[in-house]
Amino acid sequence: MLANIPTILRSGVRLPVLGLGTWKSKPNEVATAVRVAINAGYRHIDTAWLYGNEAEVGQGVRDALSDGTVKRRDLFIVTKLWSTFHRPEDVKLGMSDSLDKLGLDYVDMYLMHGPPGFKGPNIRPTSESDYDDTDYVDTWKAMESLVDEGLTRSLGLSNFNSRQVDRVLHDCRIKPVVNQVELHPYLPQLDLIKYCQSKDVILTAYSPFGSTPDGGNYISSESRLLEDPVVVAMGKKYEKTPAQVLLRYHLERGLSVLAKSVTPARILQNLEVFDFSLTEDDINKLNSLNRNHRYVTWEYSRSHKYYPFDDQPRSAQ
Ligand code: NAP
Repeated sequence: MLANIPTILRSGVRLPVLGLGTWKSKPNEVATAVRVAINAGYRHIDTAWLYGNEAEVGQGVRDALSDGTVKRRDLFIVTKLWSTFHRPEDVKLGMSDSLDKLGLDYVDMYLMHGPPGFKGPNIRPTSESDYDDTDYVDTWKAMESLVDEGLTRSLGLSNFNSRQVDRVLHDCRIKPVVNQVELHPYLPQLDLIKYCQSKDVILTAYSPFGSTPDGGNYISSESRLLEDPVVVAMGKKYEKTPAQVLLRYHLERGLSVLAKSVTPARILQNLEVFDFSLTEDDINKLNSLNRNHRYVTWEYSRSHKYYPFDDQPRSAQ
């Protein structure tokens, strides 16, 4: 049966609350994953220039469009401006490259991947001399022109802390619809949620399951969110899997959430989250697992003036 995923309406944009994540989805598997997801009812697909798989994500989307499974207007495709394109004169270049790779005329939302800029050509900086100090507010203003040109329908932020969101809100002509950040019981970010909700900015949760470890293994057993005894016990209580409990946790709090999988059975399983609710007590129990643990640290930009994560130790600046 085709799932009917609810949407959040904000600033005229209808964001489907559950999206398919594609970070670390290999090019040879992601087109099929996107196809399986769209067939099952996913409409929100999240990718990024950085992921190096926009062409294959686009292939999956275009296959679904060309065989009539879905119409373009019913999809919500999100990609992101990487930090090597932060100089205002480079912003359109980043957008155009993404659209070329996706094989689409426009995306539904274009996010600034993070506040720090990098000089390039290294994708990630190898030393502080690779940092570029373009103010992300200037980058944002250049992104606004992309909406005027019809290349994206809306704009958003990613990995911004509340002070940084505030600066953009203060100076923007087009408001960010979302701030996409890491969120899960080990990093519940209650203050950021409160702040963004007070400003009508949707928070989209990434890495809800604890992400995919590089090289296949987590550094420590404490970081295995899907195996946390509290999460596992809650799954048993609700007759759901730990992954479904973790997705529901975000939906219950009015957020949108991205679930990455290239495994068809999991792509389908992750959709089965609209037929149960967590009690307030259980949400509090999940929040109390907080250990300020980040799976995605932007380590290589730790000394950048716009490094966003206040809860992380900083090297000398
Ligand atoms: P995630 O969704 O928390 O975890 C993905 C991992 O969980 C994969 O190894 C996946 O395996 C596994 N998985 C998926 N469904 C499962 C299930 N039902 N049961 C057990 N395991 C399951 O990690 P993420 O990729 O870091 O985050 C989600 C998405 O958010 C990303 O893909 C990306 O689109 C976005 N994101 C954005 C940023 C940013 O800076 N803006 C950063 C990180 C992520 P299989 O694929 O092998 O099934």
